[in-house]
Order: sequence, then C-alpha cells, then structure tokens
Amino acid sequence: AHLDRIAETDGKVHAFLHVDAEGALAQARKVDEAVKAGETVSPLAGVPLALKDVMTTEGVPTTVGSKILEGWLPPYDATVTRKLKEAGVVILGKTNMDEFAMGSSTENSAYGPTHNPWDLDRIPGGSGGGSSAALAALQAPLAIGTDTGGSIRQPGAVTGTVGVKPTYGGVSRYGLVAFSSSLDQAGPCARTVLDAALLHEVIAGYDEMDSTSINEPVPPVVAAAREGLTGDLSGVRIGVVTQFQGEGYQPGVLRSFQAAVSQLKELGAEIADVSCPSFDYALPAYYLIAPSECSSNLARFDAMRYGLRVGDDGTRSTEEVMSLTREAGFGPEVKRRIMIGTYALSSGYYDAYYGSAQKVRTLITRDFQKAFATFDVLISPTTPTTAFKIGERADDPMAMYKADLCTIPANLAGTPAMSVPSGLSDEDGLPVGLQIMAPALQDHRMYRVAAAYE
Ligand code: GLN
Repeated sequence: AHLDRIAETDGKVHAFLHVDAEGALAQARKVDEAVKAGETVSPLAGVPLALKDVMTTEGVPTTVGSKILEGWLPPYDATVTRKLKEAGVVILGKTNMDEFAMGSSTENSAYGPTHNPWDLDRIPGGSGGGSSAALAALQAPLAIGTDTGGSIRQPGAVTGTVGVKPTYGGVSRYGLVAFSSSLDQAGPCARTVLDAALLHEVIAGYDEMDSTSINEPVPPVVAAAREGLTGDLSGVRIGVVTQFQGEGYQPGVLRSFQAAVSQLKELGAEIADVSCPSFDYALPAYYLIAPSECSSNLARFDAMRYGLRVGDDGTRSTEEVMSLTREAGFGPEVKRRIMIGTYALSSGYYDAYYGSAQKVRTLITRDFQKAFATFDVLISPTTPTTAFKIGERADDPMAMYKADLCTIPANLAGTPAMSVPSGLSDEDGLPVGLQIMAPALQDHRMYRVAAAYE
C-alpha cells in the first residue's frame, strides 16, 4: 500500500531519491514468514520506513543529495540501517535532502527540491525535507533524519510531523556520511510521539564503531511517551526561553506558541520564563563550527575513493582530476561552506573565528546547565516562520540560515530536543512546531511532555 502511495504521489512531492521496492517487499515477506512460523518479532517488524539518503545502505544508492556520490553503492550498512533491518523494519527507499545536509529547505539537493505536501509551492524544511514530506504525504509512517543544526526538527515543524534529535552520542554515527561530526546526530521522525519513541529505541544504543557513542542505557522514551499519554503533567517544570521571540518571528507562530503554553499549564505543568543570553550567538558560532568541520570532512571526496571522477583521460595530473571533480560534483552551498571553513581554520584566523566560536559553544552549554537546574525541560517555537515558498530564500543564504535559529543551541550543547506539531498558524493555515529541549541523556523527559501535549 505504501509503495502504491509513493507511486501515486511522489511525482508531485519528490520525497524519494530512490525507491527500493524489491528490497522492501523481500523484507516484508521475511517478517510475514517469521510471524506465520510463530517467532517473536520486534514491535516495529513489518512497518515501512523512509531513510534519509545520508545513511549508507549496502548495495543501495546513497547520494547524500550530491552529484559527487552519484552511482556509488556503499559496501556496508550504517549502524542505524543495520538496526532497522534487524528489527524487521521495511526500508522503502532513500529520501531527498539538501546536499550533504547543508540547508534548511531541501532546495540544495542536486536532484531537485522536495515539495511540502501541505502546499506544493512551499519547502518541506531541510535538510531532511524528504523524510518529513514522506510522513506528511502518508508515503511512510516512520522515517529517519539527521540533525546537525535542526534538520530533523525544522522539517518536522513545517510539515506537521514529529522530529527528534536525541542526545549527541545516543544514536551511532557509523555510516552516517559526515557533515559536522561534533554536531551530526541521527534520530526518529514519525506522525505521533509514541511512534517516534518506538523507533528511537530501535536505533539508539552504544556502538563501538562510533568513537563518540555514549556507553549508557538508552533513555526509557517509550515508557515516558506512554506516561505522557495519560495527559498529566503535574509537577513538571517548564522554562520558556525568552530569546526565541520578537523580531523575525511570525505573529501566527508566536500566537500558536502562546496557546501551547496555556495548554501545557492546563495539563498541570509549572511554567516560567528563563533567559539564555548566549543563545543569541548560537547562529554565528554554528556557521563557523559546522563549515570548519565540513571543510575537513569533505576532503575525502577526492575523485579517487568514491563516486564521480571527471577528466581522468590520461592527460591530466591527479590534482587536476581532483579539482575538476570537486568543481563539477559539489553544488554552490557546499562550496561556500568549504571556503568559509577553510578560511576559519587557516593559521592567523583560527583563534579569531574557530576559537571564538568554540568559546561561545561553552557559554551556550552553561546557559543550558543553569536553566536545567530549575527546569525539567525548556520550550520554544521550533522555527521562526511556517514553510516559506520554494525559491523565496534561494539567493539569500543569511535568510536561509535563520530558519534554524531556535534549533541550533541544542546541537552545540549536544543536548536532546524535539519538535511536536502545534496546530496550524492562524495567519496562513500552515503547520507550526513546538520545540521541547531536555538535558543530555534525559530524552525521556521531552517525550513525556510531547505525548501529553500532542
Ligand atoms: N540548516 C542548517 C545548515 O544548513 C542545519 C542543517 C542540518 O541540521 N543538517 O547547516
């Protein structure tokens, strides 16, 4: 049924870069046989899922939305992919994304934009717009995204779906094509909080193949979501981050947020304002740290190891082939980031740019620590605006970067955060998201609040 739905709708939505009908049906049959044989299967066995094209899949194309990896067939599965397969989850295919997960609208994909199912002229958010659009278009009930600065939560918000960035290190990065390694985090996307929690527990956990994986028990997110579904939040202390309002925020988004605050109070939560002054510097710090790490990570796309190779006709030097390949294979946003990052890391500028950004990162972590001394979770709008029109910000990188204003602090601090649907804006009738943030390894706290609120 989901493959049929994709065939019916994806001509308009373009959520998928690759549909693996054969692989999906084979996995579904395997689960079916196991069930018929009376074997115990995982709670998500047989459930279809859309996988962001940043996760390697053995023998199935993985492009990361880039021409530079066109035609590459990974020789191995990412840990997330492996865990999904082991749980009997049916991977329908790979979803569209901004090239190398750099963007906030999925317009930076080398394979064309994804359209928001709520209004096909609008963006589905980014970088993981394909995964969230697949959920909103009822092409898949579950999806996987990755969030470096907001790429799970922001598409979740603008498509009216749930998106979770777990604690950094909670889900393995092995096989996740790296953008900014100290920020990248994979997580679950779904249409309900409980669905996201069930998927979270399938993909999370320690992995010796990832040096920053946390060797701690997986937070009890399913139990927390179930507890939240009782609708009682008495005793839960919620802080409203005062930095995330005012200029640049649509009035419709702010009204939706105020309504969410009232609703959470009615559910019994104690709510007060909290100021996190360093969050004002999160965006500039992120746009130095992320490009710096990207400039280093993307050095491996050298025309020798994977995918595209241009100009290798025996007349050119290795350097020329590398340079022609990178020129042809990377899109403009990726090139911009590599240039910014290379500059910020160069001697003479390192302390002024990269060094300062790392100091801001520490200040942001401290603001979180201080706020979490008083509050169990913090809340804000997920995005300053609802889905904007395709093309509207295409020539204005600064306007594009602002889409992740509220989501970036959690990446810099490594703390978990999620977006849960918060109704439709009374301004334009488009979905709005409520962001809930928790301390590291306390992912379950935000699931409880989100399930009660949803
Ligand atoms: N929009 C942000 C960026 O372009 C975040 C992307 C992400 O989370 N992958 O870097």
